[in-house]
Amino acid sequence: MKEKNKNIKWWLVVLFVVCFFVPSLVVLFIRMEKEAPQIKLDLDPAVFGMKKDLTMTLSDEKSGLKKVWVGLFKDGREVVLLEKEFPTSGWLRKGSVNRVPLAVAVKPKELGFTDGEGMLRLVATDYSWRGWGKGNHTYIEKQIKIDTKSPRIEVLSDAHNISPGGTALAIYKLSESCEKSGIWVGDHFYPGYPAGLADPDIFMAFFALAHDQGKGTTIQLEAVDMAGNRTKAGFYHYIKKKTFRKDTIRISDNFLASKLPEFEALLAGRSQQSPIDRFLYINRDIRGENKQTIDRITANCEEKIYWKGVFRRLPGSATRSRFADQRTYTYKGKAIDHQVHLGEDLASSAHSSIPAANGGKVVFAEYLGIYGNTIILDHGFGLFSLYAHLSGMDVETGQTVNRGEILGRTGKTGLAGGDHLHFSMLVHDTFVTPREWWDASWINNNISSKLKSIGYVE
Ligand SMILES: [Zn+2]
Repeated sequence: MKEKNKNIKWWLVVLFVVCFFVPSLVVLFIRMEKEAPQIKLDLDPAVFGMKKDLTMTLSDEKSGLKKVWVGLFKDGREVVLLEKEFPTSGWLRKGSVNRVPLAVAVKPKELGFTDGEGMLRLVATDYSWRGWGKGNHTYIEKQIKIDTKSPRIEVLSDAHNISPGGTALAIYKLSESCEKSGIWVGDHFYPGYPAGLADPDIFMAFFALAHDQGKGTTIQLEAVDMAGNRTKAGFYHYIKKKTFRKDTIRISDNFLASKLPEFEALLAGRSQQSPIDRFLYINRDIRGENKQTIDRITANCEEKIYWKGVFRRLPGSATRSRFADQRTYTYKGKAIDHQVHLGEDLASSAHSSIPAANGGKVVFAEYLGIYGNTIILDHGFGLFSLYAHLSGMDVETGQTVNRGEILGRTGKTGLAGGDHLHFSMLVHDTFVTPREWWDASWINNNISSKLKSIGYVE
């Protein structure tokens, strides 16, 4: 009997250990974890303007988040920006939030802070039982700057005369470093770039008036500083009047029969369509897609002037079509389409050598739909030239070329009836008239004189 009692006692101890002590140890081990919460703070740039949308993500995988506290400290004073407690759940009393994005709009001026250096402080704790229930905590301090003043823009260039389809140059000085600055022409933005002078606050921006923008178009300078403070300023400019020519292009069955095979790959799935419908698809849709490619290529540029002096025109060539000719396409006497011709068509003898209009960097040398074999040169600061319908190309993307260097030969690839060079110029994604750039006195009066005035050596 005694022996039996002893056995039962022993079994009770085992039962106690297995059913209570071991699980308690396991729970204790889980709930005493020492992994601190993580704070991912989105603070780039660390500058607070009139309003800063401060965003962060807190996470704590093991015990869950308990509390977060964010304060802004400056000149011996602290203001709490955010204080939040998270709930628990389950029999283990863990936090029910393991990951949470938080956002707080901070308006330093309304909180009574003045401009200058300050400190952002953040504390996050979790539901761990560590430290007698205080949990694990993460503390972060970040140096920040409060800047509620808008940047000042001083315009250094004076005459800004521009016509539809024309180019102009503005030179300006910013009062502080900015995230973005440039010129708005209507709803189109032309970014400014550091001029590369000893004074890093001097910027220049080429801007254009599109062929269909005229008098009444708003032209303004804008600068946005690192804190998001924005300044918009008008500056002296004069918009000249210009009208463009009308032209009729007759589409013949012969032209369609000779041209459509070249576009076969782009016309896949359209074999049931009539030749004229396939032509219209090329003239509208493919044209639009090609423009998107050009927009993408001309979105970035070198911040360096590659060109010098007047731009070269194809030697010994006759002008067949001009910039911004308003073209009506007819088929069997009926108007079927309307497009604007955004370049100059220059015809010489077939397969004529094409010299680079000026120094630049080759940023495109490929087949491009209606343009056929096409080369695009980046001349720097957003100015580009485009050579289309080529029969042969001698240069490759990435290569720099000098003025007059041979790029390739004229041809009739793409939507061209006969051998010629289609020559375009662009300011970023806006086509501009090459005639200004072929004119030495226009360049001198509108561009070079301004560059000289700030000591820029071309
Ligand atoms: Zn053309």
